Amino acid sequence: MTDNKTSPFEIPTLFIVPTPIGNLADITQRAIEVLNQVDLIAAEDTRHTGKLLSHLNIQTRTYALHDHNEQQKAQVLVDRLKKGESIALVSDAGTPLISDPGYHLVTQCRQAGVKVVPLPGACAVITALSASGLPSDRFSFEGFFPAKSKGRKDRLLEIAKVERTCIFYESPHRILDTLTDMLDVLGPDREVVLARELTKTFETIQGLPLGELVAWVKEDDNQQRGEMVLLIHGYRTDSQATIPDEVCRALGIMAKELPLKKAAALCAEIYNLKKNALYKWGLENLE
Ligand code: SAM
Repeated sequence: MTDNKTSPFEIPTLFIVPTPIGNLADITQRAIEVLNQVDLIAAEDTRHTGKLLSHLNIQTRTYALHDHNEQQKAQVLVDRLKKGESIALVSDAGTPLISDPGYHLVTQCRQAGVKVVPLPGACAVITALSASGLPSDRFSFEGFFPAKSKGRKDRLLEIAKVERTCIFYESPHRILDTLTDMLDVLGPDREVVLARELTKTFETIQGLPLGELVAWVKEDDNQQRGEMVLLIHGYRTDSQATIPDEVCRALGIMAKELPLKKAAALCAEIYNLKKNALYKWGLENLE
């Protein structure tokens, strides 16, 4: 593309263009057309995007727009759009703005009355959720965990009683520490799914109660590698309803003779139920 290319788009537009999160075939026909036809591609890492563009045989010029320069460069791009150019925004992988740059550019475009057109496409959070087996009717995307344990535990405490599925991105070098903090705050019975290397050769989607998931990840170094999404089953408020009357009666009798924790553990063993749920029921109904 040359500087004096005539834009094929009638109105100057900022296109938000998702790119693959692993498998290079996961790019839409429309995304390819837009990347071919715009005047400029604003990219998080121009070298990284250059490889995708050369794979797609696209020659459109790129412009660096990353976390460290976005606030200043966004205005430059808005000015170019207002002069009649069309621009595509891409990030290194997946959907721009989803834990990636683009927020300032989109906000400034909208404030300046520049048309913003989003293209649907690859996104790790949605890809992971769709195959996780966790409730998908309500969910919240929580981005990355804080890097330090204290911050992580605070975030976990915030979502501990949230009833919808909560989804986090995590990096491989922190996965074990994060899972350990999750175990401390959410307990061993909370169901968590680890979705790793989605769309790639070693794609793995494993869902287990936290206690078992931590052990599984610890045992196998391979599970501590690559890109990953953690999905946490929402807090279950129906635990009371699922405890049969007979068990409630037995727990009530045992709790008269034993500390509640012990009584809950015994009942859990006899009736093959979760001891945390029984203990919680006991706290709410017996003490
Ligand atoms: N914008 C991207 C999206 O739409 O998903 C996310 C960018 S964020 C900087 C990168 C994080 O997304 C990774 O650290 C990982 O948590 C998650 N991620 C990206 N690709 C992934 C994949 N193929 N499998 C699992 N997680 C992935």
